[in-house]
Amino acid sequence: MLKEQLQDVEGKIQAACGRSGRSREDVTLIAVSKTKPVAVLQEAYDLGVRVFGENKVQELTEKYEALPKDIHWHMIGHLQTNKVKYIIDKVDLIHSVDSLKLAETIEREAEKHNLTANILIEVNVAEEESKFGLKVDEVVPFIEKIASFKHIHVCGLMTIAPFVENSEENREIFANLHKLSVDIAAKNIDNVNVSILSMGMTNDYTVAIEEGATMVRVGTGIFGARNYNI
Ligand SMILES: *Cc1c(COP(=O)(O)O)cnc(C)c1O
Repeated sequence: MLKEQLQDVEGKIQAACGRSGRSREDVTLIAVSKTKPVAVLQEAYDLGVRVFGENKVQELTEKYEALPKDIHWHMIGHLQTNKVKYIIDKVDLIHSVDSLKLAETIEREAEKHNLTANILIEVNVAEEESKFGLKVDEVVPFIEKIASFKHIHVCGLMTIAPFVENSEENREIFANLHKLSVDIAAKNIDNVNVSILSMGMTNDYTVAIEEGATMVRVGTGIFGARNYNI
């Protein structure tokens, strides 16, 4: 079943790339494995998956220890400052930076480990009350503040679009995040790159790709529904 679902997602990504004149290599599929047991991740690994997304620090570190070391781990969930130290040397990319305090902590921990942390700025494009992330007009001032941090590399933007019945309703959200990245790129801020756009989940990743996503975060579409009660 996992194999078929992966193939299905892969086919839809290819079709969306085709429709929008984009190359398949320009889009990274992040397999969002939160709540799924290590055995299921291993099965995905055996099918060729190397990029996994997790949203909880403890779960990520446990899976990191248990699984092969050539996996690329992405922290996609809200990150508390006191937990940065547990993942700083384990993840390729932190998608969810949305405060100066968090950026400062990442800077400090990255320096301790003598590494440069790759981060995305989380943007609450839809301005949903329940969601984390900066408002669109807060993003440039924020990036200007953290651009000088020596152990952080801003690589792009991330958004979590609202849950909608019809994915077309999120097209404008994705287009807005894309536009914001173009505006930021035009500013040529030193040490800042906005080439990564992490947007699109199971319900709307094809629309996100059509609007310029370079990373899509797909959980349910690959692994099936999550059960939070086990
Ligand atoms: C859970 C999660 C996803 C994946 O959601 P699905 O709808 O299962 O594809 C993507 N991004 C974030 C930040 C998540 O927490």
